[in-house]
Amino acid sequence: MKNILENKNNCCGCTACYNICPKNAISMVLDEEGFKRPIIDEDKCVNCGLCKKNCPVLNSTENYSINKCYVGYNKSDISRMNNASSGSIFELIAEEVINQNGIVIGACFNNQNKLIHKYINNISDINKLKGSKYLESDLNDIFKFIRSNIKSKKILFVGTPCQVAGLKSFLKYNNDNLICLDLFCHGVPSPKLFGKYIKEMEKNITTH
Ligand SMILES: Cc1cc2nc3c(=O)[nH]c(=O)nc-3n(C[C@H](O)[C@H](O)[C@H](O)COP(=O)(O)OP(=O)(O)OC[C@H]3O[C@@H](n4cnc5c(N)ncnc54)[C@H](O)[C@@H]3O)c2cc1C
Repeated sequence: MKNILENKNNCCGCTACYNICPKNAISMVLDEEGFKRPIIDEDKCVNCGLCKKNCPVLNSTENYSINKCYVGYNKSDISRMNNASSGSIFELIAEEVINQNGIVIGACFNNQNKLIHKYINNISDINKLKGSKYLESDLNDIFKFIRSNIKSKKILFVGTPCQVAGLKSFLKYNNDNLICLDLFCHGVPSPKLFGKYIKEMEKNITTH
């Protein structure tokens, strides 16, 4: 088993390598801190190099100079900002995309309190995605899902800047159907830490 980056601490866990591997030789495995990081199975690997070619950390191409900057919030209905973490701009863009028969992909908790990226195509489900969750979400096969659907549908992908960089690196082409929305983000705590926090909270509830 080997890593893709020499220093695995530089990996942001975006899953671009995992999703691009034609031999399914890459698995996202929990490291000692509880972050999902890619591991290559050398028995399956054919050294095609696609994982390295598609890694946003190894191939940083973005031009970070900003020409224009806008600030906004959901002015139409202030109450909708209540369960958003900031100005609820996400909800407005999500509604627009779904009204155009598109798909919205963002982070929500599943019934085991695991944060996963999930797609929705119904306005009534937008609330499930709203709000900041301060831990690393599991992207799983979502980049492959986007690649399969992007030609026929508008897709809004919301994620951390690392996840958006990974998606762009994986797709390798611009597509007018794809809208990427990233967050101001200082970094994500690990799901393992969050799991410990939940256990601690449950202990407190049962002992009181
Ligand atoms: C991990 C993390 C770190 C952040 N760090 C900063 C910071 O350093 N400075 C700062 O000013 N603000 C920070 N934020 C806040 C963030 O910028 C606000 O959540 C955002 O501006 C809210 O905008 P909104 O009201 O339009 O979205 P909301 O309606 O609140 O929706 C939030 C969107 O973010 C997505 N999302 C939520 N959690 C995650 C996650 N863990 N991973 C990927 N996508 C997620 C949801 O799917 C949803 O689409 C952070 C948020 C997160 C999730």
